[in-house]
Amino acid sequence: MPLLMCDLDDTLVERPPLFRAWAERFLAEGGYDPGLLEWLVEQDRGGHRPRPELLEELTARVGYSVPVEQFLEDQILQVGGSYRLTPGVRSALDRARERGWSFAVVTNGPTRQQRLKVEAAGLHELADAVCVSEEVGAWKPDPRIFHEAARRAGTTLDGAWMIGDNLDADIAGAHGVGVRSVWVKRDDDWLTYESGTEADLVAGDFPDAVRQVLSATA
Ligand SMILES: [Mg+2]
Repeated sequence: MPLLMCDLDDTLVERPPLFRAWAERFLAEGGYDPGLLEWLVEQDRGGHRPRPELLEELTARVGYSVPVEQFLEDQILQVGGSYRLTPGVRSALDRARERGWSFAVVTNGPTRQQRLKVEAAGLHELADAVCVSEEVGAWKPDPRIFHEAARRAGTTLDGAWMIGDNLDADIAGAHGVGVRSVWVKRDDDWLTYESGTEADLVAGDFPDAVRQVLSATA
């Protein structure tokens, strides 16, 4: 059974609307200027700005009284806990499964935070394996995390594909272990890439990526 490996953030779950919803709620509940929303979304840089730095700046800007460590904890729980599969993702996964694919989530990040997102999105019940870099001790593009995903899914990387939004981590990582790839190209991509990697296929979103994998392997 071929393995479909998928990145989590901004691949299975689009994060920007979740951050925006959190920011909106934070400003409303604190009675802060709602006009700060766009500034805050900008400061988030698509989630790529270090959290402590972002929250320190926000705290200073609005005069929030909760210590940054506690704020950080609250924010991780609130945003992570709000993770839901982006519409269309569940049915795309079902289609792949009907065609005999198994499915693994391969995500970079701290174990507790990423596991929280996985469970909030219901992926722990859908996936044959979940690999979080911190718990595996290897971060994409390290080959070990992909091999571990296959091992946990009870299969091998033969015929596997990887779908992800990060060229350096997901796509270069997949190619490093001989796995073909689909790059989910985001319009609001904040990353700059160093590896010069090109994916085998490029998709606009996750369901499109799955469609392309299924037709490429039909
Ligand atoms: Mg990602």
